[in-house]
Amino acid sequence: VAIKECSINDLIMGVLSFSAAMLRKQKVRVHLQLENSLSKILADTEKLKQVFVNIIVNAAEAMLSGGDLTIATKQTEDMIIISLTDTGEGIPEDDMQRIFDPFYTTKEAGTGLGLSISYQSIKLHGGIIEVESTLNEGTTFTIKLPVTT
Ligand code: ADP
Ligand code: MG
Repeated sequence: VAIKECSINDLIMGVLSFSAAMLRKQKVRVHLQLENSLSKILADTEKLKQVFVNIIVNAAEAMLSGGDLTIATKQTEDMIIISLTDTGEGIPEDDMQRIFDPFYTTKEAGTGLGLSISYQSIKLHGGIIEVESTLNEGTTFTIKLPVTT
């Protein structure tokens, strides 16, 4: 594992530039609300990048006719909080418990691994990942990571 000091905002910007063509093609408009004085944290940056890619790809796949993706960061005394909100199809109440389970997918060609791996990666960083969703309105994933300085 490669743990290093990183800026969450820079990491998110990197993932967005890497995903820009896909997001444009899927007609996803990106809105950023990044707090610019976040502490740097110690993290396995490759793992964290993969978490953001997974959530952003899921968001795009939930907005098949386009939509808005809002990414916000902020900091409390000891946590960095990242939220990713889409205006997609939402998650039915009954499915909410299962989305982090390995191999749980509602997609024809889905692997069902993205969120379970993301959950493990965030846990490995001492953080948590939560979801809120309203059917036909959208979904917010919130990641809370401890400030490790
Ligand atoms: P996959 O994308 O391969 O299906 P994931 O682990 O990434 O696997 O996601 C599991 C399931 O959670 C998806 O199949 C979908 O039903 C649901 N899901 C995840 N993200 C969203 C989202 N942003 N909006 C609606 N449903 C979602
Ligand atoms: Mg996925």
